[in-house]
Amino acid sequence: MAMIRNFLFHRVSPERDELWDPMDVSLFEKCIRHISSKYEVVLFEDLIRDETKLHSGKSYATIMFDDGYKDNIEFAAPILKKYDIKASFYVVTDCINKNVPTWTHTLEHSFQKTEIANLSIDFDFLPSEYHVKNLPTQEARVNYAKKLKPFLKKLPSNQRSLVLNRIAETYVDCSTPKIMMNWEDLKALKEQGHYIGSHTVSHNMLGTMSNEEEIQYELSESAKEIELHLGHFPKTISYPIGSYDDRVKRLSKKVGYASGLAVHQDLYDPKKQDKFEIRRIELYNEPWWKTKMRISHSLEKVKSIIRYR
Ligand SMILES: [Zn+2]
Repeated sequence: MAMIRNFLFHRVSPERDELWDPMDVSLFEKCIRHISSKYEVVLFEDLIRDETKLHSGKSYATIMFDDGYKDNIEFAAPILKKYDIKASFYVVTDCINKNVPTWTHTLEHSFQKTEIANLSIDFDFLPSEYHVKNLPTQEARVNYAKKLKPFLKKLPSNQRSLVLNRIAETYVDCSTPKIMMNWEDLKALKEQGHYIGSHTVSHNMLGTMSNEEEIQYELSESAKEIELHLGHFPKTISYPIGSYDDRVKRLSKKVGYASGLAVHQDLYDPKKQDKFEIRRIELYNEPWWKTKMRISHSLEKVKSIIRYR
């Protein structure tokens, strides 16, 4: 049975971050060395269009990056070159155009960097435990961000925007970190044999959006931007934060994508699963034993044994 292991990375950098730690460069190299020694690594877009390869019964691995961080070209690309690996980079076109990070990263950054204590979040749609008027210390702000972020991901898109706008209007003392790639970087990656696909226009969570026209805009406009700057219509859409539903899958097909990427921490079985909810295994900055278990997929197996006992 052919099983595809799609490995998902985000930032790869020696920088440390308390709220969302990039993967350390040495750990990334360890991952690539280990994955390429155990599996045949192919470019996802080459694999997905090759039905004979896909259904050959062989197991493959692919390497993917979401969001489009500058550290991908600075630190990850040289390691990929060293091991002769081609990878796919899924980019948020507004983040590339404006050199601003995704809303999740901006949120974490502003709570860590601001010195403004007053923050009034009291929307009726939020449970009272998320209401605040004042976060006096950096520690209080970071702790609140840790609690708020996972909750924000569960909200409908329009409510999430209200909270994010309030935070942005309040924490005006934070400058935006310049950590995204530009179109020249992406052109260089493409020339090295890597693939550039879409991760939407704004990183909005597609499955939480109520307006289908807006979902379609996220899907088609990002593809058009990539085509305009890089000369190809991307075949793959990576759903931000793994959020999708049947509408998102249908619209992705309609707009012209050939496959859609979810997360799910699981292997992709091309015989059983849909091309518009392809599973990926995300790797983090964790101890090597844990990362190795994620790569072999034994961590999830152990977890499920514990869960179902
Ligand atoms: Zn993302």
